Amino acid sequence: MKWFSHKIITGISVYCISGDPVGAVISALGSIIPDKIEGQDYKNFNRQTHRKISHWFVLYAVPMLGFFSYLCCKRGKIPYLPNLYSSFLSNQALLISTIFFYFLLGCVFHLIEDSITGKIPLLNPHKKDFGMKLIRVGSFYEYLTTSFFVFAFLLWVKFVH
Ligand SMILES: [Zn+2]
Repeated sequence: MKWFSHKIITGISVYCISGDPVGAVISALGSIIPDKIEGQDYKNFNRQTHRKISHWFVLYAVPMLGFFSYLCCKRGKIPYLPNLYSSFLSNQALLISTIFFYFLLGCVFHLIEDSITGKIPLLNPHKKDFGMKLIRVGSFYEYLTTSFFVFAFLLWVKFVH
């Protein structure tokens, strides 16, 4: 997927799940990291190493679950980020953990999204063996899927939210 699709689909999904607009933006930013650490743009990717160790879920899911566990122990749930600003000095660890949680969640969303546009590693970080090519990157169906998310989100905000 193109980076704008990753950001839009991840941001909308995380907002619908969490209801936290700040968390959704942080996840949207995190959603391009697995590609970003490989190169500046699509043309610069090294095809030999693309979507290998950088796309191994363990690197993102394990620390994310660590932050998740910490937050659940401290608060019993993921804190609503806008509520933490006013008490920043007394809640630094909570605020930073929540930011990292959403950031890593965005990375995990990237991997899920990539697994429907091709293969990514599952157990072996050097072997791309998980996923299916339902949508080709940059194709009409990718734009259609991204547009669908935007359209469904707008309807949800208007009629349900
Ligand atoms: Zn990717």
